[in-house]
Amino acid sequence: MTEKKPFEIARETLKQITARKLVPTPVNYQTIYNELAGVTVIPPFPADALRDIAQSLPAKTPGQQKQRGLLEYAIDRLNWEGVKTALVAYGGFVPAHSADSAIGSHSTPMPLAGGASAPALTTEFMLQVARLIEYAQPALGDDDPRFVEQTHTLLKAIRQPEVDSSTVKLMLTNYGHRMSFAAEEQLEIKKTLLKLLHMVFENIGDLSLDEQWLKGQMDALMLASKPPLTLRRLDDVERRLKDVIFKQKDAKERAMEAQDEMRRMLATFIERLSDMTRNTGSFQDKLVENARQIEQAKTIAEIAPVLKEVVGATRSMAEQSRTTGDELLAMRKRASVTEAELAKLYKELDRVSAQARHDPLTGALNRKGMDEALERELSSVRRKESALSVSLLDIDNFKTLNDAKGHATGDQALAHLASVARECMRPQDTLARYGGEEFVILMPDTPLDKGVEAMTRLQRELTTRFFLAGADKILITFSAGVAQLTEGETGADAIKRADQAMYLAKRAGKNRVLAA
Ligand code: GH3
Ligand code: MG
Ligand code: MG
Repeated sequence: MTEKKPFEIARETLKQITARKLVPTPVNYQTIYNELAGVTVIPPFPADALRDIAQSLPAKTPGQQKQRGLLEYAIDRLNWEGVKTALVAYGGFVPAHSADSAIGSHSTPMPLAGGASAPALTTEFMLQVARLIEYAQPALGDDDPRFVEQTHTLLKAIRQPEVDSSTVKLMLTNYGHRMSFAAEEQLEIKKTLLKLLHMVFENIGDLSLDEQWLKGQMDALMLASKPPLTLRRLDDVERRLKDVIFKQKDAKERAMEAQDEMRRMLATFIERLSDMTRNTGSFQDKLVENARQIEQAKTIAEIAPVLKEVVGATRSMAEQSRTTGDELLAMRKRASVTEAELAKLYKELDRVSAQARHDPLTGALNRKGMDEALERELSSVRRKESALSVSLLDIDNFKTLNDAKGHATGDQALAHLASVARECMRPQDTLARYGGEEFVILMPDTPLDKGVEAMTRLQRELTTRFFLAGADKILITFSAGVAQLTEGETGADAIKRADQAMYLAKRAGKNRVLAA
């Protein structure tokens, strides 16, 4: 074969560009020319173009950020294999060899088993995996229809009697990858919802600046809804919110009633006033008329009936004035009573404000009161180097009692427990309502074993002092955990330990006291 001349290669290059429908750019021209001339050229690594692509990839979720970071890393090292792996993983698909990738980082979990040597997956194992996926599904939400679809397909595939391990392996890898995105999204949703909730609390509190009590309640709600959130704390938030709504409604109704009463009294007052001026007016007219008659009278006999009339009119006028005066006096009294009632009402609302330290139902300290008491006990412990035990108790099966006897009876049961606890505790101990049907007892100068003893005593006391719901005797039992404050520990941490012990007491069959 003879060597082609450059102009022939150039002509052929143009032909090829047209035939292959390529864009006639200098790069394409050069590429085809080299190809036809048999020149081997290692194309330069298009780092800038790739970087440009990497920059335009969204990096909203941590997963995306990670893959984009890996892509940029691979571009910096002019590593084609790394670029490929990062891009494929970014798109949600990871080939099995990605673990050996030159970029040296595992972007997704390792495959379950490797290719042809994969051990057979037993049916039982696959069913376990399916159950696991099913259990986790509600936590991941169903906002993304593609993910829901992927989950269904995967579940269907792994429930087949004959499972193809390499297909399932691939599906599981892809599922795992998408699941990480779904989990991140759910976390974000949770955080955002909480932020919104706080905004609502904040704004309600700010809007009602004149209603100090409401602001106080909102502050308490903000505090109660701070992470870490547990179902128990959310339950507490719900109860507080209900409390606020109820109190606000009650207060509003009572204030409206008082205002109505004021309005009614004002209307009566104006009516009486106009009656009085009208009466005075006609009385005066009458006197003028009588005076004229007297002037014109020629004899005493003519004057006598006029005088009689004057006396009569005067007497009736005096009587009317007295009645009206009495009525006005009564009204003024009523007005000041109503005014006092309103003032009392606002004072009462102030009492349940942020300053309130007691739970109105049980008379025990509320959370705020408890926190303050705990602070006091802690500084005393530090001063005296004495032992402080804290106990957390949770009434057993309280929901059942509520369901069977009604919420009002449930409330009475709470008050009963609190009153028995108060009587059976030493004066220096503090009882606080920690949440719905949970109480905390602070026991100063009490080592752990004595704390457990005290709580056991309270348990015994409740078996002798039944709670009476009508004619029914109801035995209230509780499970409790007791923790002795350790050196350097915060009160909240000690309560947390007591809570964990309480939880174990529940697990162990309830109606018992465990040391933390
Ligand atoms: P367990 O013994 O395992 O703790 O079960 P439980 O039913 O006692 O506990 P759970 O947490 O399931 O239910 C507690 C119930 O207590 C739910 C809630 O409605 C009720 N509760 C919380 N606060 C009050 C309250 O102030 N008054 C009344 N009547 N019920 C309350
Ligand atoms: Mg509970
Ligand atoms: Mg309970």
